[in-house]
Amino acid sequence: MRSLISAATTIATAAAALLLQLPVRAADLPPALAQTENRIVPVAAWGGTPADPAKARKHTIKHITLHHQGEPFPEGKDPQLYLRKLQTWSRNTKHWLDIPYHYIIDLDGRIYEGRSIDYAGDTNTEYDPTGHALIEVVGNFEEVQPNQKQLDATADLMALLAMKYNVAPATIHGHKDYSAQTVCPGVNLYRYLENGYLRDQVTQRLQSSLSK
Ligand SMILES: [Zn+2]
Repeated sequence: MRSLISAATTIATAAAALLLQLPVRAADLPPALAQTENRIVPVAAWGGTPADPAKARKHTIKHITLHHQGEPFPEGKDPQLYLRKLQTWSRNTKHWLDIPYHYIIDLDGRIYEGRSIDYAGDTNTEYDPTGHALIEVVGNFEEVQPNQKQLDATADLMALLAMKYNVAPATIHGHKDYSAQTVCPGVNLYRYLENGYLRDQVTQRLQSSLSK
């Protein structure tokens, strides 16, 4: 009974947020999705610095888009050092606001915050990332396979974003679906979009979090 009431409350809260076009607040998330939110490593925790809000383009999330790093990420490489270097390169070399992606997933399935989700991302290719929640998985999936921890974390994060921003699993795609200039997120990760695995995993997570 309690679970029915809590599921009903969650659905009502999510529906109210949808009507108001507001993100679902963390406190209103179902427990499994709140757990994902709570395990995201914030920028300050990996040694990053916040972006200048005056230079940011605000946007509303309508899509979830998957990327890979596109370079080898060997076992033992420090993901936090990688993020600090990526932030410096993004700002100093590319003259972007910040890291181009909103979230980065490492080899252990840890999820790091990159650019604030409130700000539109950046890209080297021709598509406009405004409205896209951008997820990068470390590694080059033209060459290696994603591991199960990375796949699980990707599905966990996508489910959280789908719930928070009221976007359907059908809006989940890969970078190369929007750009002819890239193979990103790499053939071995793209496969999990193509065969429906990630969208199914996200749907399952949303359904089970609403039925508990
Ligand atoms: Zn990409």
